[in-house]
Amino acid sequence: MISVRDAIEITLANTPRQKPVEADFTRCIGTVLAEDVLSDMDMPPFNRSMMDGYALASDDALLAAAKLQVVGFIPAGSNPKFKLQPGQAAKIMTGAPLPEGADAVREVEKVRLLDQGRVVEILEPVKPGLNVVPKGAEVKAGEAVLTAGTYIQAPIIGLLAATGKVKVKIYKPPEVAILATGDELVDPHIKPMPGQIRNSNSFTLQALCSRLGLKSRILGVAKDDKNALRFKIVEGLKYDVLLMTGGVSMGDLDLVQDVLKELGGHFYYQKVAIKPGKPTVFGKVGEKLVFALPGNPVSSATVFEVIVRPALRKMMGYPVYQNPIVTAVLTEYFANHSQRENYHPAVCWYEDGQFFCRPLRTRGSGDIVSFARSNSYLICPIDKKEIYENEPVQVMLREDFYLT
Ligand code: AMP
Ligand code: MG
Repeated sequence: MISVRDAIEITLANTPRQKPVEADFTRCIGTVLAEDVLSDMDMPPFNRSMMDGYALASDDALLAAAKLQVVGFIPAGSNPKFKLQPGQAAKIMTGAPLPEGADAVREVEKVRLLDQGRVVEILEPVKPGLNVVPKGAEVKAGEAVLTAGTYIQAPIIGLLAATGKVKVKIYKPPEVAILATGDELVDPHIKPMPGQIRNSNSFTLQALCSRLGLKSRILGVAKDDKNALRFKIVEGLKYDVLLMTGGVSMGDLDLVQDVLKELGGHFYYQKVAIKPGKPTVFGKVGEKLVFALPGNPVSSATVFEVIVRPALRKMMGYPVYQNPIVTAVLTEYFANHSQRENYHPAVCWYEDGQFFCRPLRTRGSGDIVSFARSNSYLICPIDKKEIYENEPVQVMLREDFYLT
């Protein structure tokens, strides 16, 4: 049995980043750039007015109450051809280019019009560059606006649009196959007969993948039978990653490792000192990554969070793999009965500048009812048997933590 830390390290060490692909920029949200993006022009492309007002030469209005002759109107989208002479100003709108001869803009709120609008009185003094973003101040043509390895969040989609980068190289998000195993499992729309239970794992895992922006394919349920397992596993190995649940512990019908081995599989580890989730297997068949997770719903979801998610993030090229771990104040006594690093379902919240954590009462790793109320994990080290109210604890936040 290996430690959680080793399991994560070994997993990452054997998980390659995906190859770059070219994608339409509108479809890149949540992926990672696989190339530098250079601006094909200066931004802004001209001296841009930040205000609705009057473009002028600051020399003409260094003192208040300068009176200038209004000689033009420059809306956004126009390209002024005239040059301001000393003593002249032009009405200008936000986003419009300054005319030659102007180096500042006095906003409309700080002027008064005289002589039926032919003269503008500048009510407050103007310094050079006032309310103007100079050409190329944001970025110069040929300079990098983004570098490879950048996570693409919403403002970056806008930047790609602004720089005309409509085709973008990103790391190809892996495609994931999800396979549940177990004779007792039935589909969610079926009322289980005595002894049966509904397959929930496949859907939790699919939801977790979809939150990561990954396409996944549910391959259904394989019976606890070598032929059935082999058939489905072979199907799953067509994908970049195969996520399986169940059939990996010490039971008579836990055949997953046997079948993976028969298919040429190689295991990096088959047990991890994590609670819940000890019988966790990570291996490869050929180049394909296989995670065989324990069948208990809380175990498989927890191991996904702690071990699988970082691997998927690495494949996607993310700069950061791990979920955030914060220090929180424990709000209730917690007794740790585990001999392994314990990831206990918890509710965490942020209030008045600090995090708080309430461990949930649970009936164990099959207790999906209590688990569904959690938004985080209280991480209890192996050697810690009790944690008292108000003690600081480490808490791993889940992605939707701040919405729950
Ligand atoms: P196993 O790891 O196959 O021994 O399964 C451990 C426990 O998890 C058993 O109680 C199973 O019925 C349950 N289980 C296994 N697979 C699933 C699944 N896909 N959905 C919900 N529960 C499951
Ligand atoms: Mg089973």
